Amino acid sequence: MIIIKTAEELDRMRASGRIAARVRDELARRTAPGVTTGELDDYARELIEKAGARSAFLGYRGFPGNICASLNNVVVHGIPGSQRIQIGDVVSLDVGVVFEGFVGDTATTVMVGVTDPNLIRLVRVAEHALENGIRQAVAGNRLSDVSHAIEQTVVEAGFSVVRDFVGHGVGRSMHEDPQIPNYGLPGRGPKLKPGMTLAIEPMVNMGVAEVEVLSDGWTVTTRDRRPSAHVEHTVAVMDGHAEILTKAED
Ligand code: MG
Repeated sequence: MIIIKTAEELDRMRASGRIAARVRDELARRTAPGVTTGELDDYARELIEKAGARSAFLGYRGFPGNICASLNNVVVHGIPGSQRIQIGDVVSLDVGVVFEGFVGDTATTVMVGVTDPNLIRLVRVAEHALENGIRQAVAGNRLSDVSHAIEQTVVEAGFSVVRDFVGHGVGRSMHEDPQIPNYGLPGRGPKLKPGMTLAIEPMVNMGVAEVEVLSDGWTVTTRDRRPSAHVEHTVAVMDGHAEILTKAED
């Protein structure tokens, strides 16, 4: 069942979304050669605490980090630790916070001195796919219109969309209905209604779509070990537009 949020609940989603966005962007600024993903995680904990929130990820099914930090061929769910960021890396930072009972979920992929044009294109295509997906998240459309817009953007660019992991509804829980695949034919699935809140998150691979989960039980890598990019916003479906709840501050 897809939970429709009331106006008051949407306000609380806006508050948690704002915090998640701020933490994401502070972490992105801190992402540089020589920094470990564990240091980013410590910084995230500090920022989240200071905002009066808590990490939605820490302890989720036993996840040990405050954030997910996924480098290069890691698609999502990278565990922060001793890994040191290097020039040429692409670093997906995924931030989920709970504030006053509501979750904000967002991710960005930071390019650390990346010069490879195809890698830059990969990240831009993921961002563009997210924008195009969000543009479809309006009342009256069907859920798979979002999915289709994402897939089309990625496929046209010659990259592939991960199929084993998907976006999701978000609210009091991090994962609510519906699941939001990043692929599919348009015009299918539930009709979108004002007050639905969705975490839309394309995962885009340079090579094959297939992924695998490493023995730590979390880290998802591309099967061919080529790079991947991941970006995410929490949005609210509205009449005529989608409101991005995890937008960067101006
Ligand atoms: Mg998510």
